[in-house]
Amino acid sequence: DETFFLVMQPIVPIDDASKKLKFEMLLRMRSESGGLIRPDKFIPAAEETGLIVELGRWILHAAAREVANWPRPVRLSVNVSALQFELGDIIADVRSALAQSGLPPERLQVEITESLLVTETSHVTEKLRVLRTEGVGIALDDFGTGYSSLSYLGRLPVDTIKIDQSFVRGLPGDGEASAIIRAVLMLSESLGKHVVAEGIENQDQAWLLRLAGCKTGQGYFFSRPGPAEDIVVKLLAAEHDRLSTVMRMG
Ligand code: C2E
Ligand code: CA
Ligand code: CA
Repeated sequence: DETFFLVMQPIVPIDDASKKLKFEMLLRMRSESGGLIRPDKFIPAAEETGLIVELGRWILHAAAREVANWPRPVRLSVNVSALQFELGDIIADVRSALAQSGLPPERLQVEITESLLVTETSHVTEKLRVLRTEGVGIALDDFGTGYSSLSYLGRLPVDTIKIDQSFVRGLPGDGEASAIIRAVLMLSESLGKHVVAEGIENQDQAWLLRLAGCKTGQGYFFSRPGPAEDIVVKLLAAEHDRLSTVMRMG
């Protein structure tokens, strides 16, 4: 498909961003004139028309195929729309993407938003539970912007909580944002869930988050989303640098 393509953004340990743990796949669309259209513009339209179900299936397959044959066994995280749970058969789509690419389920994570869990709860959580049983990771995206209560979080089949970038943006000045981040970190730790802070744009934010106990982050400060080819080249180059340093020291 030429109008749609995927870019990837690394998710990294805040104290060692050279280690790329995972890559979030982000959809891009090229307009007829060749310009780029952001997903905030076209995803809502694709949801309105129901096209998102087919598009979402393509994303899963394309993403899995992309990384399955990389020279390093990276993990990927794919955004999934609520409609893929409601109108589509998300379980069948995930299974076929894994089967056709040969990607092990442990290397796939799906990202869902909080709002998905507010409506039709039991039905959606049941599907999430099936995916998780099969080894696929589940991340709760944009956390803090929805309405789910914190106590509810413990009962959800979710491994990872992604703190919404609106809270990170407020750092270091915004005391309220920083209080919320601390509360989410504390709660997640007691519930045994991983936390990723999104939208880290500068050193101060990275430093403060690390100080607050957040181990993992994502944002322009570490890397902007980019095409797969560039990412593979950088991964191999970084590894080469590390190896030659070790050899020089050894
Ligand atoms: P999201 O899932 O919260 O993705 C993170 C967004 O933040 C991405 O925008 C990313 O480029 C941007 N971002 C990353 N680091 C920074 C930073 O340091 N500062 C700032 N200001 N922004 C940062 P993008 O790619 O435009 O995607 C926007 C939204 O569109 C996504 O938000 C997601 O909800 C949706 N989306 C993207 N790709 C897909 C997809 O394949 N399927 C579905 N269903 N939704 C998608
Ligand atoms: Ca996301
Ligand atoms: Ca997000």
